[in-house]
Amino acid sequence: MDPMGAERIPRQVSRRLIPDNADEPLIALIRRKFSRGRPGVTHEYGPWWVVRDQHGRVVGGVRVGEVGVDHPPALDVAVDEHHRRLGYATALYEALSSSGIDVEAASAASLAHRSMTLAGYMFMVGRRSKIDLDAGMKIAATADVCPSCGVCD
Ligand SMILES: [Zn+2]
Repeated sequence: MDPMGAERIPRQVSRRLIPDNADEPLIALIRRKFSRGRPGVTHEYGPWWVVRDQHGRVVGGVRVGEVGVDHPPALDVAVDEHHRRLGYATALYEALSSSGIDVEAASAASLAHRSMTLAGYMFMVGRRSKIDLDAGMKIAATADVCPSCGVCD
């Protein structure tokens, strides 16, 4: 994570972000639950999606949490710190999207409901900036709006 980048995060966004869970890092939980397997993204079962490197080692995953009927799910994403910026989170999101999950609505809901980490926001803004140069500004302008619930406190 680029600390200078973090300082440029708009206040409307930073006030909604939460710290990573230091007690139970999601990547550690995923590695305990899942072993070597087929490289790439697999939907293991239920809420669990895992991504493995070319040697079949677990390097990341997503837990998809159902929030409610007609509400975007909560996506808890983890990628091992030594395997960041290699496209693993992008591969996970593409697989989720292909399965019918609206990952952009889920990200917007997560930010609005204050369940997004700094890493999650950096992934969100990086992803959207590839197709929209004003993505950072637009995310900040609607940081408190859940696509399902509307404006959040
Ligand atoms: Zn909502």
